[in-house]
Amino acid sequence: MSEPDDDTPETRLARLVLSLRSQGVSDAAVLNAIETTPREMFTPDLFKERAFEDSALPIACGQTISQPYIVGLMSQALKVEPRSRVLEIGTGSGYQTVILSKLARLVYTVERYRTLMRDAEARFQALGLTNVITRFGDGGEGWAKQAPFDRIMVTAAAPDEPKALLAQLKPAGILVAPIGKGPVQSLRRYVGDGQGGFTVEALTDVRFVPLLDGVAREL
Ligand code: SAH
Repeated sequence: MSEPDDDTPETRLARLVLSLRSQGVSDAAVLNAIETTPREMFTPDLFKERAFEDSALPIACGQTISQPYIVGLMSQALKVEPRSRVLEIGTGSGYQTVILSKLARLVYTVERYRTLMRDAEARFQALGLTNVITRFGDGGEGWAKQAPFDRIMVTAAAPDEPKALLAQLKPAGILVAPIGKGPVQSLRRYVGDGQGGFTVEALTDVRFVPLLDGVAREL
């Protein structure tokens, strides 16, 4: 869907938010976070014109910035509270991180590509965010030193139940992650029962890049 060129970024963001709302994203705080985040900052120059479309776009290192609808859906599903400490695995462009930073008290985010981490850090700084803590590393292991977390969001597809991450969740915490080995995965929400167990819900089908082991050798 192409947008008229003369629209301002604000108009385009407002239109995007209306579209997410019509698709079932209803949480006011989430919609407000999306409406106040300049997505064109997170896309490569080649795709700036398409930054306000509701689609995933390529970023460096063969990765993708998630589709705004999926960012909205996952952020809403995570039920972030103003006091939440959130762990995000897969910083990528940093777009989802910024949305979380507007909902939570603190966001810890892990990325396995140095280049993506560095670019995302520059964006967090440009936006004046003071509640995002970054780490270059393998997010599959979580972030033991900072655990436990109130909420965990995984933005790369885990092959199966992410046990190491679930172990770093508070007893009544919530984890949202795409689960599956194929090109289409199941977006799952794990809700802690307060006694070490979880209820698991399948929310929808999604397409994410895979959660890979170890850090990337290339920059
Ligand atoms: N939330 C991002 C989506 C990025 S795509 C955005 O809005 O832009 C998923 C990201 O997960 C990629 O950047 C990829 O490098 C990263 N990733 C994959 N496996 C990882 C791992 N084990 N640890 C940390 N990051 C990982």
